[in-house]
Amino acid sequence: MASQPPLKRLSVEALDQVLGVPFPVLDDGFIRAIDYMGSDGAVVQAARVSYGEGTKQVLEDRGLIRYLLRHRHTTPFEMCEIKLHVRVPMDCWRQWIRHRTANVNEYSTRYSIAISAQQQTSAAGWRVQAANNKQGSEGFLPKETGELLSQKERQLHRLSRQIYEERLAAGVAREQARKDLPLSTYTEAYWKVDLHNLLHFLALRMELHAQAEIRSYATVIGEEILARWCPAVWEAFLDYRVHGLTFSRLESEIIQHIAAGKLDEAVRLVVQSGWLSSNGAIKRHRERSEMEEKLEKLQLPIPWRTNK
Ligand SMILES: Cc1cc2nc3c(=O)[nH]c(=O)nc-3n(C[C@H](O)[C@H](O)[C@H](O)COP(=O)(O)OP(=O)(O)OC[C@H]3O[C@@H](n4cnc5c(N)ncnc54)[C@H](O)[C@@H]3O)c2cc1C
Repeated sequence: MASQPPLKRLSVEALDQVLGVPFPVLDDGFIRAIDYMGSDGAVVQAARVSYGEGTKQVLEDRGLIRYLLRHRHTTPFEMCEIKLHVRVPMDCWRQWIRHRTANVNEYSTRYSIAISAQQQTSAAGWRVQAANNKQGSEGFLPKETGELLSQKERQLHRLSRQIYEERLAAGVAREQARKDLPLSTYTEAYWKVDLHNLLHFLALRMELHAQAEIRSYATVIGEEILARWCPAVWEAFLDYRVHGLTFSRLESEIIQHIAAGKLDEAVRLVVQSGWLSSNGAIKRHRERSEMEEKLEKLQLPIPWRTNK
């Protein structure tokens, strides 16, 4: 076998400096990095199937990472892994755990007494049900209403904890005593995931349609941990996934008409595709609304609005 140059283990000083340091999230949650494997360099190394430190030409490495991300060449990103310790309310964890491509070990409330902390909502933090998005929220309730809701919330947390502890004191098994604890109760878990699937998680959970609570966790993972661990990957992810726009065939055609100043043609296409009533009346249409958001970002006119 041909001799190979000696290998130096890849490490990232910026992440080493915060290993084990909890980044606070919500009122009593946190995320901390426990361990990791790989770095920007490991992505490059895998892509080139090279050994040692890979190339030292930083600009070339950055370019390669951006190319891989842009073209969804995903396997080099799977060469990196990170293990996080998270403390998160159970309702948020319920969304988090849907991501099947991670390895998880969660605090057991069959084995141990449930963590005595519940996520509390401040008087100013009660969100209003969104009118147009059944899964979403928009704005906040007035603070006076919020104060009442927060007060009731504290009562509920106190009572549910008290009943839980009474059950334990009466000898009820922990696995059964826990059944009426609120979903706001904090849980803790170790969560290990490769970089490819972490980016998938972040793309879904940093996005505006994700619930605010899980968005807070995803944002901390991205901004505090991934940005230190793999800065070139993080930069490319922001550029291409978070801030990049994609267009369907129809959207591209509509944009071509708008850019050419053929606004009537654009409206005709929108009506033809059923995104708008034939009399030009604006009715709710999800795909059209999503396109309107893209046009706003591009600072292009939305002709069916102006034609109204
Ligand atoms: C805004 C938002 C709203 C949501 N609303 C709901 C809801 O109302 N109800 C609900 O139940 N869920 C809901 N979800 C959860 C969602 O449907 C996914 O379960 C969750 O986001 C995990 O995504 P994933 O499966 O892509 O991730 P992962 O489980 O991490 O999987 C990553 C990728 O691996 C592949 N993969 C993993 N496992 C399999 C498999 N068994 N077979 C084939 N391919 C696989 C897929 O390509 C998948 O995209 C919502 C998610 C978001 C972000």
